[in-house]
Amino acid sequence: MTRMKKRLLYRGPSCPHLGRRHPGPRGGARTGRWLAPTGQGTGCGKPSLFSVESLIGRGAAVDRQGVVSEVDRGRLYRTEGLILHRTDFGEADRLLAVYTPRYGLLRLLAKGARKPTSRKAGHVEPFTCVSLLVARGRNLDIVSQVEMLEPFRRLRENLELASLSYYVAELITGFTEEGDSNPPLFDLTVATLSRLCGARDPTLALRFFELRALGLLGYQPQLFLCITCQAQLEPVANYFYPAAGGVLCPRHGEGFPDAVPLALPTFKVLRYMQTHPWDQVGALRIRPETHLDLESVLQSFIVYQLERRLRSVDFIHRLRREAKV
Ligand SMILES: [Zn+2]
Repeated sequence: MTRMKKRLLYRGPSCPHLGRRHPGPRGGARTGRWLAPTGQGTGCGKPSLFSVESLIGRGAAVDRQGVVSEVDRGRLYRTEGLILHRTDFGEADRLLAVYTPRYGLLRLLAKGARKPTSRKAGHVEPFTCVSLLVARGRNLDIVSQVEMLEPFRRLRENLELASLSYYVAELITGFTEEGDSNPPLFDLTVATLSRLCGARDPTLALRFFELRALGLLGYQPQLFLCITCQAQLEPVANYFYPAAGGVLCPRHGEGFPDAVPLALPTFKVLRYMQTHPWDQVGALRIRPETHLDLESVLQSFIVYQLERRLRSVDFIHRLRREAKV
């Protein structure tokens, strides 16, 4: 690839600078254009996160002249995706919920995927990371080809890990829609499934995912300044108040009946997770009571933002109770 081609950047309706809600594959990719960085584009004026090379990495087809080929502009589009859910559809098909970096959450039809002879069957299991070639359909887009990138097999073989993975999937489906382009959140989700497979403390990987995902979705809890007085929060017993968006100092927390006392170890771990990479967070050793407290605090924040409970949380709790018996 020449230097000129490397400098081409994508500007268009699926540009991540245009905000959370913008058209998915039905509108965005078809009308997006390839422009040089200095061109008068339809985008926001900032260079997009998507260079040609990063798009190639994400599966977009780029021809020898360095422009998006028919695959991305026409009836077909290619995308990386995580299979979050699958349900039976018709006699032999499956309906898939697929999370993608550029197009958000897609509902795709995998025709014939339940036939024993289908080559798609093993590739459209929950929590597999795949490369998809998708054909636009009148009602539903259809999986034309699927290639396995990462099977994450362990997540389906271990019941506890499966329950944690379903929670990740439920969180993504709860917070995202078709058209929600968010490559960093996609990368975090894939990394989290990988961490669940191999981490010493998978529950900590889940807490890290929750906190970082909230930030990437625009709901980052405030953990450093009191929400009321904006004073730096001291390492003391502060208060957590989901409705206000984070933590209150002791003086102001006492004034809100719904604000809950935040134990100091929990507060410290939350701040550490918000400011340190997983390599360092994953090395922490968390006491069981702090773990329960972290879960409770983050869950209260998520339930407040989503305005509903997540079903997989009840399942995780049931498994935990049964494991103790
Ligand atoms: Zn205050």
